[in-house]
Amino acid sequence: MARVYNFSAGPAALPEEVLKQAAEEMLDWQGSGMSVMEMSHRGKAFVSIASQAEADLRELLAVPDNYKVLFLQGGATGQFAAIPMNLARGKDTADYVVNGSWGKKAVKEAGKYLPNVRVAAQPDSFTVAPDPAGWDLNAGAAYVHYTPNETIEGVEFHAVPDVGDVPLVADMSSTILSRPIDVSKYGVIYAGAQKNIGPSGLVMVIVREDLMGQATADCPTVLDWKAQADADSMLNTPPCYAWYICGLVFQWLKRQGGLAGMAEINKRKSDKLYAAIEASDGFYTNPVQPGSRSWMNVPFVLRDDALDEAFLSQAKAAGLETLKGHRSVGGMRASIYNAMPEAGVDALIDFMQEFARKQG
Ligand SMILES: *Cc1c(COP(=O)(O)O)cnc(C)c1O
Repeated sequence: MARVYNFSAGPAALPEEVLKQAAEEMLDWQGSGMSVMEMSHRGKAFVSIASQAEADLRELLAVPDNYKVLFLQGGATGQFAAIPMNLARGKDTADYVVNGSWGKKAVKEAGKYLPNVRVAAQPDSFTVAPDPAGWDLNAGAAYVHYTPNETIEGVEFHAVPDVGDVPLVADMSSTILSRPIDVSKYGVIYAGAQKNIGPSGLVMVIVREDLMGQATADCPTVLDWKAQADADSMLNTPPCYAWYICGLVFQWLKRQGGLAGMAEINKRKSDKLYAAIEASDGFYTNPVQPGSRSWMNVPFVLRDDALDEAFLSQAKAAGLETLKGHRSVGGMRASIYNAMPEAGVDALIDFMQEFARKQG
């Protein structure tokens, strides 16, 4: 068996230890005689898996007691719609900060449910996280939505913006669990699992309790946070197997020293990759302003894009996969989430240096 270093942006690599444990437990989960995939979500075994996962997540992120943690379906994209429907609370306007492709999609979807969606900040090019001091915020907004890490452009906010009393909503799909955060600064945090949590098919939503229970009358019940919280995310059949794998990832994260431990590793991994790009004398470049560079998604272009195909095929031959950039921006992108070992980043850097050297 030869596993590759998989730099996919999502669905992304999972920790090998987690996959091995899942394989061992595949046919018979802890003496139950069945796979987690085959269990009733109402049974004692699965309920224990689900509640352990929630407890571990709460511990990792230090989630305060007045927040609910939901494990839902529909991905982050489902939440693009759920957010205006749950948070409008009689208002017709919300502020969106757009610093990349996902933020743009979030605004578009919100516009179906709120007549007055405002763009509070949007840089001309998605190469910088716009300074919160310059956001054009409306004190009457139902909420402020932003994307702490834009997965496609590799643009990340490295501090939490202060938006006063208006609830701050964060699409953390590609940065959650990469470092400790202060959950109490947010009204709502949500993240599709397939980047930095677990398998696709699950979206995690962390909501402050006072923001629940006011969904619009036509909000689908499965998207109503209060209805889901009251049912422990089991209003209907939840994504059971994905939830179980997320739980194994949470336990793995605890073994790595929790999020403080991950932050150290993630900073080191991204610092060395950016440093290698900088040191290439323009052979490779990253367009993002240094203070806004992502720890998780590192896009870069080759000086001569005629070399892209050779770069990708030689990388693949060296066991480095899925480095092609998003079709909208081209070039390359290395996604280096929690599950990418530092040795994988080292192997990528070695390969990049060798490739550049061979071109002369
Ligand atoms: C991947 C991604 C999404 C979309 O997630 P789905 O689960 O496919 O809906 C949304 N926002 C960000 C920041 C992402 O990285």
